[in-house]
Amino acid sequence: MIPFVRDMTFEYGHADAVSPMIRRVVANNPGPFTYLGTGTYIVGHGEVAVIDPGPLLDGHLDAILAATAGERISHILITHTHLDHAPLAHPLQARTDAVIYGLDEPRHQADEGEEDHAAAGEAARFRPDIEISDGQTVSGPGWTLEAVFTPGHASNHVAYALAEENALFCGDHIMGWSTTVISPPDGDMSQYYASLDRVQARGFETLWPTHGPPITEVAPFVEAYRNHRLARERQILSELAQGRATIGDMIPRLYRGVDKRLHAAAARSVLAHLIHLVRSGRADCDGAPNLTSYFKLISNSAV
Ligand SMILES: [Zn+2]
Repeated sequence: MIPFVRDMTFEYGHADAVSPMIRRVVANNPGPFTYLGTGTYIVGHGEVAVIDPGPLLDGHLDAILAATAGERISHILITHTHLDHAPLAHPLQARTDAVIYGLDEPRHQADEGEEDHAAAGEAARFRPDIEISDGQTVSGPGWTLEAVFTPGHASNHVAYALAEENALFCGDHIMGWSTTVISPPDGDMSQYYASLDRVQARGFETLWPTHGPPITEVAPFVEAYRNHRLARERQILSELAQGRATIGDMIPRLYRGVDKRLHAAAARSVLAHLIHLVRSGRADCDGAPNLTSYFKLISNSAV
């Protein structure tokens, strides 16, 4: 069982000091993927960094500016380019002289006959001012933030470690309230496992996810988070042990009792697992794995 943490006291539009160096303002965009909303973090005092300005909401822009009135925002850091994290970066920059750091939005993957759509996507693609590199640090008075590449939820996902508090702003890589969506092709389960190990190895004292409260029992939480995925993987392997199957065959059994409206998202998660299992030689299918492929167990694969 994952020891989820969900209790959080806050008020939309109001910045709370949540640690000596960290303030948090929550955007009013609650939902099934964002929980109570996007938590934007302000790091430092006087000269500050803003991590994940959030979605395009005027009220949230005003709240960040009000929270930092009389201070200078020198850096805007983006964990990844999903719509609840990055879009407010440029409007915020326009009101400050901050430099935006992060990774480019992945190229839109065009299906056949979709070139126009791809071209439109290219024009609208989010780009930071500076493409950050893994291990790169940025700093201000009393704070140092280090980029920790953590692909998996998104191919361009970057977490930021705050050295002074041995804390990690982990974006959507690890969330206290829920598991993370891994949806191929941009989401990648093999990378996700590696990124979990990477965070675990660093021995952080606190994780600050974008959505929900901080995780303070980091090692057991990450261990349980990883075990949850491994348990799902074993379930998929035992499904395949009964004979070849499509994801559609497996979903009603794997997600028994789960609201059917969530089955489409669940199917993408199972696909992420199967791509990982094919890649690691434990399952097989004809051609590239997709939602309609027939998967089978590789016979010597232990269940
Ligand atoms: Zn998010």
